Amino acid sequence: AKAAGKSAYRICTPLLRESAVSRAELIADLRRAVDEGQLRLEFQPIVDLATGAVRSAEALVRWWHPRLGVLTPARFLPLAEEAGLILPIDRWVIHEACRAAATWRKRAPQATVAVNISAAHLRRPDLIATVTAATAAAGLAPRALTLELTESALIESSEAVLDRLGQLRELGIGIAIDDFGTGYSSLSYLHRIPATELKIDRSFVARLDSDDDRAYATVEMVTRLAGAFDLAVVAEGVETERQHAAVAAIGCPQGQGYLYGRPDVAAAVGQNRV
Ligand code: C2E
Ligand code: CA
Ligand code: CA
Ligand code: CA
Repeated sequence: AKAAGKSAYRICTPLLRESAVSRAELIADLRRAVDEGQLRLEFQPIVDLATGAVRSAEALVRWWHPRLGVLTPARFLPLAEEAGLILPIDRWVIHEACRAAATWRKRAPQATVAVNISAAHLRRPDLIATVTAATAAAGLAPRALTLELTESALIESSEAVLDRLGQLRELGIGIAIDDFGTGYSSLSYLHRIPATELKIDRSFVARLDSDDDRAYATVEMVTRLAGAFDLAVVAEGVETERQHAAVAAIGCPQGQGYLYGRPDVAAAVGQNRV
């Protein structure tokens, strides 16, 4: 019993995961993960800071590995990209997220869902087909879906990518710039990318705790900028009451973070927080 306890502990320790299983083995496992139903979505609430209402949630993928336990995206998505397995995963995520949002909208008709899109997927012309197939299959209005793209994914945006984003916009799909402020030339994006939303990176929000004037000014500036460009804006990674108070004082309309809710298989959409 002692040995079993010890090995169970080992499996749960992130640093030991890599040594327990080889990369090649992990890639082989990943190939089967989608087909064998080992991927799960968790949903993290996005809160309307004026009312406390949860109208939206971000879908975050987890891999329930049969031996290693629950793996977070940072753990396996880089490997998936490398092994060319990101597209089936992204597709699965989009389909599942649309299905979930369609059920939320039965009790909360304004509910929306946000899905992360990898850079590799953004480069593919079939992104549009994947997204329209998913919304159609779920019976979800395209305006209820937002795609989150990081600045690093957008940095290489070619004419073809910009064109694709324009087409998604025309379908009514939202485009959020994720981790806003961490990449280069953030301001030039706002003129080129047909975005509908900015998500303020949690590194800025984290620094609001220490009365960091620059962090405060950054969150304030992005909030104002979003307002002027008629974009939605979300402060990410709100963990403490103090951060919440600062974000609310700045007038940022929406927040996301552990204070309001951790990612969970049960989405809190339609409920109230704060
Ligand atoms: P992200 O898009 O910036 O997602 C937010 C991450 O921050 C999530 O980590 C979430 O659990 C975490 N988080 C939320 N609130 C807080 C907080 O208050 N404090 C702290 N410290 N962290 C918080 P997660 O789920 O591990 O996801 C990490 C990244 O993996 C995501 O970053 C996203 O870029 C990527 N990702 C997640 N799911 C998918 C997916 O389905 N497809 C793709 N392509 N990428 C995904
Ligand atoms: Ca995101
Ligand atoms: Ca983010
Ligand atoms: Ca991030």
